[in-house]
Order: sequence, then C-alpha cells, then structure tokens
Amino acid sequence: MQLNFSGLRALVTGAGKGIGRDTVKALQAHGARVVAVSRTNNDLVSLSKECPGIEPVCVDLGDWEATERALGGIGPVDLLVNNAAVAMQQPFLEVTKEAFDRSFDVNLRSVFQVSQIVARGLIERGAPGSIVNVSSMVAHVTFPYLSTYSSTKGAMTMLTKAMAFELGPHQIRVNSVNPTVVLTAMGRQVLYDAEFAQKLKERHPLRKFAETEDVVNSILFLLSDRSASTSGGGILVDAGYLAS
Ligand code: NDP
Repeated sequence: MQLNFSGLRALVTGAGKGIGRDTVKALQAHGARVVAVSRTNNDLVSLSKECPGIEPVCVDLGDWEATERALGGIGPVDLLVNNAAVAMQQPFLEVTKEAFDRSFDVNLRSVFQVSQIVARGLIERGAPGSIVNVSSMVAHVTFPYLSTYSSTKGAMTMLTKAMAFELGPHQIRVNSVNPTVVLTAMGRQVLYDAEFAQKLKERHPLRKFAETEDVVNSILFLLSDRSASTSGGGILVDAGYLAS
C-alpha cells in the first residue's frame, strides 16, 4: 500500500519512545512534516538526529497549562496521533488517587486538550483531518492490575466515537488502534513476569504479540485517505486475542 503524506503536517504525542517514535519515523518517511511531542528531552534530541527536520516539543502532557503554552500556538496540523500514555499497575484495592489522576490526565485528558487545539485549527482553515487515538485491547478485556489504565482506554473508545460524531461534519475523521502487548518499554514493564508472558502469548490465536510495525501500519492506514470513509471505529492489532 503506497501512502503519501506530502504537504501534510502531523503531530505525534509520546514521540520519544516505542510506538510513537516509530510512527514519527514512518510519517516522515512517507513525506509528512512531523511535530514530535514528548516528555524526556534526551529522547527528542536523539530522534531529531535520526530524523532531521522534525519539530520537537518537550512537554509533560499531564500538565494542562504547560501543554497549552507548548502547543497552543503550534500552527496548522492535518494529522494527529494521540499516543502518549502511562500504564501504572496496582491491584484494584490499592489504586491511589495519585495514580488515578496521573493516568487519566495523561492518557485521556491530554487527548481532549491536544485534539481540541488541532481540531479548532482544522475547522478554522476549513481543512480535512484525521486523528488516531492509540488505545489498547484492554479497552475491551481485563488484565491483572490494570484497572486504572484499562479504564482510561475504555473511556477512549467512547471519546473516539464522540469526537467522530462531532467533528465528522467538518471532515475530520477519528479512529483508534487497539493493540495487544507490544514489547516496548511499556510492554516489558507490564509483562515483567516471564511465565505469565509466555502463557499470555499462547492465548493469542496467532501465538504472538504485536510488533511495533504492525501498530504503526494501522495508524498510517487510518491517517491516510485509504480509510476515507472510516470514522468512530477501531482496528484491533491483537493477534486474534479478542476472537478467543
Ligand atoms: P512507551 O512507554 O514505550 O512510550 C510512551 C511514550 O509516551 C514515551 O516517549 C513517553 O515519554 C511518552 N509519554 C508518557 N507520558 C507522557 C507525558 N505525560 N507527556 C508527554 N509524553 C509522555 O509506550 P508504548 O510505545 O508501548 O505505548 C504507546 C501507546 O500504545 C500508549 O498509548 C499505550 O497505552 C499503547 N499501547 C501499548 C501497548 C504495549 O504493550 N506496549 C499495548 C497496547 C497499547 P517518557 O518515557 O519520557 O515518559
């Protein structure tokens, strides 16, 4: 599938590591100008060396005021990937207010805020756009000690629909990707128990987890006009897990 994002400007959150980082590289390789937003400056410095020409923005997306300062004047953006998230593992009975607030601020509230900034700009320009929310299969199934994280992703399912509903008349499409485990820093943190990881992998019909590239390919498809009539839904990148 040939994709061409020439002439378009994309913004990717959580661009420093993992899926976000590879999404930046793929978008640039397919011709987009890319704004790379992340929290750790060193990651953005190394990414800028790998991808000269990207526009790095260092900000903690859990901080509303700092995000407004960093992104409020970001200028025209056509494609948005809401990818930044934290996965804090706590047994349900031990979930703290701090972990709850931080998780919802980063994983969900920042999606409202950054999407508002981008969508207002698109509507002002009368330009079409595409937004992809990076969710998870745990929006649909449960997983040990991830009640807070999976609640943020479950809420993202409805947010994706609500955004698609209200932004659709402005020709802005909104979709999600819902991966199973991907062995990034986050994936390795969640699957620290090797025996559990092996058992979990075997429960997938394809007997594997997802690769970063599989997730990035689905993100690019949803950003592109190859999915021109798709909005409000999600692509499972789950190695068949939800079929079992
Ligand atoms: P990583 O932890 O590898 O990378 C996440 C990136 O987001 C990091 O660069 C991180 O920066 C950044 N980030 C986190 N919090 C903030 C913040 N407050 N402000 C700005 N940037 C922030 O995660 P993945 O690449 O694995 O995950 C990407 C997305 O995919 C997430 O939405 C996740 O929920 C989803 N996902 C991941 C799965 C997996 O198994 N890995 C499975 C299903 C979904 P820093 O490190 O500096 O904090």
